[in-house]
Amino acid sequence: MLAVWVRGVPGFAAGVQMQVKVADSSLPVPVTVGCPWEARRVLGKPGGVVRLRAFAVGRSPVVLCRTPRLPAFLRWPVKAWSGTSPRLGGMLAARAGCHSPCAEGASSDVPQRLSNGCQRPRWWRLLLAYLLTTLALPGWTGTCQTENLLLVTLDGLRWQEVFSGIDGAIFRDAGVIRHHGLFAGFEATYWRHTREARREALMPFLWSVVASRGQLLGDRTLGNLVQVANPYHFSYPGYSEILTGIVDPAINSNDKVPNPNRSFLEWLNAMPAFAGRVAAFASWEVFPAILNVPRSGLPVNAGFAPLVLPGNPAVTLLNALQTEVPSPWDTVRLDAFTQRFAAAYLAAARPRVLYVALGETDDFAHDGAYDLYARAATRNDTMLRALWEQVQADTSYRDRTTLIVTTDHGRGRTPADWTSHGVGGAAAPDGYAGDEETWLAVLGPDTPARGVLTGGDTVVAGSVAASALALLGIDRAAMDPEGRMAPPIDGIVDCTRAR
Ligand SMILES: [Zn+2]
Repeated sequence: MLAVWVRGVPGFAAGVQMQVKVADSSLPVPVTVGCPWEARRVLGKPGGVVRLRAFAVGRSPVVLCRTPRLPAFLRWPVKAWSGTSPRLGGMLAARAGCHSPCAEGASSDVPQRLSNGCQRPRWWRLLLAYLLTTLALPGWTGTCQTENLLLVTLDGLRWQEVFSGIDGAIFRDAGVIRHHGLFAGFEATYWRHTREARREALMPFLWSVVASRGQLLGDRTLGNLVQVANPYHFSYPGYSEILTGIVDPAINSNDKVPNPNRSFLEWLNAMPAFAGRVAAFASWEVFPAILNVPRSGLPVNAGFAPLVLPGNPAVTLLNALQTEVPSPWDTVRLDAFTQRFAAAYLAAARPRVLYVALGETDDFAHDGAYDLYARAATRNDTMLRALWEQVQADTSYRDRTTLIVTTDHGRGRTPADWTSHGVGGAAAPDGYAGDEETWLAVLGPDTPARGVLTGGDTVVAGSVAASALALLGIDRAAMDPEGRMAPPIDGIVDCTRAR
């Protein structure tokens, strides 16, 4: 993310290039600057992060509001600034420009409510900005690094396996093993005498890279709780909660009903800075409905859909294999296709926000195949590593990308009901104890390396949406002025970290 202060500009003209100094560079960078409504949203929030969004020329031109004019006496050299000042102990924020109501010049494809952020700046704010900017810059380290987001969901993978590895009470029951000929190998691969060793054997990327450099939430043995807030504890309501930030009681089935609620992906895709740079890949064919593709226009490759990526022989082969390799399930493809499509798209289309929804863990669990469920978890972990290594090997993504991993629901806690989840079904109208329990992992340049969290407040799945926005420097109030979304997760976004 560019942290900027704009020089010598009396007011912002949307779509006009200006010279902007980037915090970590002495070179002026030409950017296009739009109305800093995001900054306005968090003014005055102690410790908050305020950012004027600037977008490199050649990416997405910004047209959020009409050219403002500042009074002549306010035309000092520094006209806008964003960030936090650890030296001054909290909020330091200012903006200039955009002082005429943006609605007058807002482009038609920008939600009008966004223009609320562009009101006439108060003279004292401008003066304060000038003084504090001048005084505080030497000690200023506050800037978010996250420009891009990877969100990955692993359907119905229990927190029990994530934090404790395979369950000895479950896997020794021969009835849950599908590949009996490989059982000795399964046990040798996954069984260890401590939970720490078992979980590392199951998900080595999570327990090496994420555990040492990021955060893992949801270990109930340590009193850290993550759960869905929706009352249903199955997939569509869970994904809707994660992606929209709200619980809609009307989302009560897995049917392909277009989601009436807007996801943060859809909202971002309507922003000039993200337009056309948000995409989703999913193993489950219901995702086009969850993300309401007819309305959102998001590129969503899901189920058994081929990927159209001309000139990519690997994708051509994958498309052919998808029709030749039978899936065990009628509505879910194997995750390898989803993952490789997503990786190819990431390399070719350069999305800023990529959502990858993997599904095998849930389906193998429903099938009662614990060995295949565990192996799917390990393959998913390998896919996480591959995605992470792909972005870290790419200079335009490296250290500017945050990875969030979570799940849409839990499952039963016992050997008798670990296969199941969901409230309201005929078999178990009241659901299965523990099937609301989930987990979450975060890894990125703005997330303090705290490892496995202990205690603290319960986190709900809906907080993923606001957390994703916060990592991208956007206050959720911009998307959700009514305040319906769950708040961002405490402690995973710290934009005052030094590089
Ligand atoms: Zn399920």
